[in-house]
Order: sequence, then C-alpha cells, then structure tokens
Amino acid sequence: MAEMTVQIVTPDGIRYNHKASFISIRTPDGEMGILPNHVNLIAPLEVHEMKIRRTDHDSHVDWVAVNKGVIEVKDNVVTIIADSAERDCDIDLSRAERAKVRAEKELAEAEKAHRVDEMERAKIALQRAINRIRVGNHL
Ligand code: ATP
Repeated sequence: MAEMTVQIVTPDGIRYNHKASFISIRTPDGEMGILPNHVNLIAPLEVHEMKIRRTDHDSHVDWVAVNKGVIEVKDNVVTIIADSAERDCDIDLSRAERAKVRAEKELAEAEKAHRVDEMERAKIALQRAINRIRVGNHL
C-alpha cells in the first residue's frame, strides 16, 4: 500500500511520527486531502482538526487538534509545524471546557468595552478550545 511519513513538530519537540495513507488538513483556502506521493507544497494552517489514516496501525484514524502553523510536503514526508498540537488521546477535555468558558467571558467583556485586540485574542482562544473539544470527543 502506498504510504507517506507524517510528522508533527511543536516547540515541545516531535509530537507525532507515523506512516499514513491519507491525511486531511484545513488551510485558509479550505479543507485539503493529501495522498502519498503528493507534489511538494508549503501552506499555512487554520486552527482545525487533522485526520490521519495510518498504515502502521490497521488503518486506524488519528485525530489531532492543530493550532495554526504550516504544512510542508516534501518527497513524501508531510511535516506540520505548529505552536501546539494535541492528539485525541492526549486532550484533557475538562481543561478545554474551562478554557472555552474563560474565552467566552473574555470575548464578551472585550466586546462590551470595544477592545479590538482583546476581542481577537479571545476569539482565537475560543477557537482553540472548541477545536480541542471536538477532537477530544472523537475518541
Ligand atoms: P489553557 O488556557 O487551558 O492553557 P491555551 O489555549 O491557552 O489553554 P496553549 O497556550 O494553546 O493553551 O497550550 C499550552 C500547552 O498546553 C501546549 O503544550 C498545549 O499542547 C497544551 N494544552 C492546552 N490545552 C490542552 C488540553 N485541553 N489538553 C491537553 N493539552 C493542552
């Protein structure tokens, strides 16, 4: 079966390194599916869930919460470099729920005070929390 190497790197180091037959990710242009032997590319990533169908574990599907970053595809190696990324099995759901409540509160306060920078920060924190909750619930 055709396969590619998928690596996810964060400031904490290599968070993921497996073989896969398919991945999907979200760029600002939309959802993108990648198969083995894809042409080389570099693209920015959204805060979104990444799907990985593994060839080294019975076609098992892993889900990863990717928090922005970039994807590079080069010579059949897919590398995701992100500020943070968590696998479904590593997500602390109650922490993500708490982060969501906190971000919603911060967003409401910033909107009330018309503080644009704080609104943007709270919106991104909210996106991260919602993404983690979605990925954590795939288990
Ligand atoms: P929190 O307010 O809960 O810290 P955050 O969005 O501010 O959330 P980040 O700054 O994005 O957190 O991440 C800090 C570190 O904590 C990263 O290593 C990230 O992978 C990890 N992390 C954040 N939230 C979770 C979670 N719900 N489950 C597991 N790891 C998490």
